[in-house]
Amino acid sequence: MAKCYICKEILNKSNSSIEHIIPNALGGNLKSRNLICKSCNSKMGLEEDAILAEQLNFIASMLDIKRDRGQPQPIEVEDKEKGKKYRLLPGGKPEMIKPEIEVVNKVDEEGQKKINIIARDEKQAKSVLNGLQRKYNISNQQIEEILESIEIKEEYFKEHLSFKSMFGGEKALRAIAKIGLNFYIYSGGNIKWVDDFIDKYLSESFDILSRISFIYLNYDVVEKQEDEILHSILIIGDSEENMLYSYVELFNAYKVVILLNDSYEAPDLKFSYFFDVENRKERNRKYKLKLSQTEMIKYLKKDNELYKSNIERLITEMNNIMRIIYSRHQSKLINKIIKDAFEEMDNKYPQEDNPYITSEMVSFLSREISERYVTYLIKTDRLEYLNPALSY
Ligand SMILES: [Zn+2]
Repeated sequence: MAKCYICKEILNKSNSSIEHIIPNALGGNLKSRNLICKSCNSKMGLEEDAILAEQLNFIASMLDIKRDRGQPQPIEVEDKEKGKKYRLLPGGKPEMIKPEIEVVNKVDEEGQKKINIIARDEKQAKSVLNGLQRKYNISNQQIEEILESIEIKEEYFKEHLSFKSMFGGEKALRAIAKIGLNFYIYSGGNIKWVDDFIDKYLSESFDILSRISFIYLNYDVVEKQEDEILHSILIIGDSEENMLYSYVELFNAYKVVILLNDSYEAPDLKFSYFFDVENRKERNRKYKLKLSQTEMIKYLKKDNELYKSNIERLITEMNNIMRIIYSRHQSKLINKIIKDAFEEMDNKYPQEDNPYITSEMVSFLSREISERYVTYLIKTDRLEYLNPALSY
C-alpha cells in the first residue's frame, strides 16, 4: 500500500492527491495518486511550481502546449522601434493590446471631425466608440452604422518583437528537484535513499541548493531526433561512486542535476522517462550520463567559472529551442500563405471553369504569394536572466 513519502500516512482515495510528476503547466501528463497526501501536497512547493511554469511559459505558449486544464498564458511582446505592445496568443499569433485612436484635428467643410480607430476586434472597436460617444456627441444610430462599415484587415508582422524572460533561481530549481524526486518514488525507488533528501528539502535551515544545480556537459546526455522537444528524467544509482542522483531536462533547455544521496550503497539503478512535448507521447531514447563524485561536487559548489559557463550554455539552449519554435512558425506561416493565395486564385479563376492552370494563373499566384510573404520574427537576443541565483 502506498504511503505519503513525507508524512508516511497510508494513502487512500480520500486523502491522496494527484501529483503531476512534470508540472501540467509544462505539458507533463505523467501523474500519480501514490506519492503524496493532500495536506503534504501544499508543503511541496506549489509556489515553486508556479514560478517554474512562469519561466517556461514562453516556450509552452509558443508551442501551444496542451494541458489538462486551461491554456498557456499569452505573452506580452514589444515592438521596440515603435514602442508598441502586443500579446502573443498560444501558438504565437500576435494580437494588439491597446486600440489606436487618432483624432484628426482638421474640421472638414461640413464641420465634422474625423477620428481613426484601429482596434483588435469588433468588441474592442465597440468599446472605444462607446467611450467616445459622449465627448463627441455620437448617436447610437451612428455607432451602429460605423460598426457596420468596419474594415477588417489581417496583416503579417514585419516588425521584430522582443520579450523579456527570467530564468533560474532557487525556486525554479527546487521545482525541478521535485520532479526528479517524484519520479524516483514513482518508479519504485526505495524511499530510504531519499528520506534524508526529503528532510533537507523541507528544512528551511538547509541550503538545498548545495544539492541542485544546472548542469551543461560537453556531450549530449539524451539523444534526440532532429528538432524534437523533450522533457527527460533520469535516475542514476551508481554503486561505484556511491551516489544516487537525478538528471532532468525540460524543453531540452533547462538541464538540472539533483544529488539525492551521496552515500548510496545499493546495486546500480537506472530509471528513465522521455516525453515528446509536442506530440504528447512517451518515447524511448538513448542516453548516457556518468558523473564522478568529484564532478558532482564541482557542479554543486559555487564555482565562478562554471557558473558563468552554465549561464552561457543555458542561453544557448534557450536560443536553440527558439530556433525550433521559429522554424515551426515559419512552416505554419508558409502553409497559410499558400492556402490563402490558392483560395484567392480559386475565387478569381473558379476551378470548374479552369481545370488546368494557365500561365495567367501562375503569374497571379506568384504575385499573391510574394505579396503575402512578409515574415514576422521573434528575436531571442534579449533574454534576460535573474542574476543573483542562476545555479544557486
Ligand atoms: Zn503526507
